[in-house]
Amino acid sequence: MKIICIGRNYSLHAKELGNEVPEQPVIFCKPDTALLKNNEPFYLPEFSQDIHHELELVIKIDKAGKSILPQFASKYYSQITVGIDFTARDVQSHLKQKGLPWELSKAFDGSAAVGRFIPFDHKAESIHFELEVNGQVVQLGNSKDMLFKINDIIAFVSKYFTLKTGDLIFTGTPAGVAAVKIGDHLKASIENETLLAFDIK
Ligand code: ZN
Repeated sequence: MKIICIGRNYSLHAKELGNEVPEQPVIFCKPDTALLKNNEPFYLPEFSQDIHHELELVIKIDKAGKSILPQFASKYYSQITVGIDFTARDVQSHLKQKGLPWELSKAFDGSAAVGRFIPFDHKAESIHFELEVNGQVVQLGNSKDMLFKINDIIAFVSKYFTLKTGDLIFTGTPAGVAAVKIGDHLKASIENETLLAFDIK
């Protein structure tokens, strides 16, 4: 399976990092070794002093497809959860300055934490999600604020990559990203249902 991620999909987050709002989705991938599941702890890597949490809605592809049209995209997923796209911000800033790819800052082991999947309600007009760190809400978002909606992301991405059953798509983070430290407890929910809860070690 592969993990496909969308950058800068909420305008407030693009602005908080000083980035332009993009005209087409910003895409990067993580290998399957990035996956962190079952509420296992995240171990801070030694190559960064500034690992940020990015709270994101994550969908799971449950049917293979290539060049999927937006109007048919909803047939390719039926489950959703929340995830954390861990980002080594210091490493990423260095790579961005040099115009280099982001993988070292984004695709390392454990950098894609995913929660328990729940059925996706295709009739829902908006999906509220939030992240608490040590009991304080630090990020909250709503799918209606996405610059590129899930079906449009699937249509765009599947022009380049064949999507396969089990692939995950991280759909971008709202504002409020910040560093995590040893001992932090992260808890993420959709519509107040906790789907992911784990510790930073
Ligand atoms: Zn992200």
